[in-house]
Amino acid sequence: MEKILDKIKESNKIIITSHISPDGDAIGSGLGLYLGLKKTFPEKKIDFILQDSVPKNLKFLKGSDEIKKLDELKEKESYDLALVVDSANLDRIGKVKELIEDMFIINIDHHISNPKYGNLYLVRDISSTSELIFNLLKTWNINIDLSMGESIYTGIVNDTGNFSHDNTTKETFTIAGELIELGVNNSKIAKDFYFSRSYVGIKLLGKAFEEMVFIPEKKFTYFYLSYEDLEKLGGTKEDTEGLVEEINSLLESEVSLFLRGEPDGKIKGSMRSKRDVDVNKIAGLFGGGGHIKAAGFSTGLNAMEIIEIVKNNL
Ligand code: 5GP
Ligand code: MN
Repeated sequence: MEKILDKIKESNKIIITSHISPDGDAIGSGLGLYLGLKKTFPEKKIDFILQDSVPKNLKFLKGSDEIKKLDELKEKESYDLALVVDSANLDRIGKVKELIEDMFIINIDHHISNPKYGNLYLVRDISSTSELIFNLLKTWNINIDLSMGESIYTGIVNDTGNFSHDNTTKETFTIAGELIELGVNNSKIAKDFYFSRSYVGIKLLGKAFEEMVFIPEKKFTYFYLSYEDLEKLGGTKEDTEGLVEEINSLLESEVSLFLRGEPDGKIKGSMRSKRDVDVNKIAGLFGGGGHIKAAGFSTGLNAMEIIEIVKNNL
């Protein structure tokens, strides 16, 4: 943690980035770090740049309008240092990789599949990268204000399923408690962020419940959404967020798989496990990863092939 701070101190132009299709932890941890560093080092140029846009239900976070989208940058700036947060590997940051490839890279993450890429890394198996950012800011004696606190809290809510997954530890609750003390409104964040599906998202949820397949012998539930069907509904990938958890809420289901067709013909897979199945391992069969109970991958195989491989490994 000290080495990271030293490196930040000696750099003048810093880029913060995170993974494609950013979720609450990607935005929450990146924004918490961005706001903290900007306040502490006003003389430095600090940018938070992502390949994709900020999802609608995260735009309430103060400072999120300062997050830049790679395609919209007028000219490609050069930076001395790249801080990559919540990204299990470097390919997960998408096209931003080309921008930072030759820079000094610091990898700040919480995925067990993280290969510890970068010139310096801080990888801890805790609830969320946001929890890690909280610890970093504290260690660096950076005062966490309400905007940073809301970002960090939102990231924790995202990755713990609103404090319900078993990555939620006593420490996670202690941090959440400190954030509440700071003025974070847990109920407001739950409403603005967590219980806030789009209209298309609700329709997709209906489609998922209608069309999902449950295989009792394997305690396995899956749902495949083609890119054409997503387009027909006028939805984007953002509207599919959380579907994989919803189909696994079936009492008898222990593992779920959600497959989503992508515009380039590839398929994005998301998996969740309620009990002993290690989905990080299964996602690894397709070159992906994540955590034991939540993992993902992207593959050129077709839906039937993917489902067969997953079934055979349960
Ligand atoms: P989700 O299913 O919500 O997209 O992702 C679940 C977890 O797996 C997250 O922690 C996410 O970062 C990770 N993950 C998702 N997709 C991929 C992927 O393609 N590769 C790797 N290595 N991890 C992924
Ligand atoms: Mn995360």
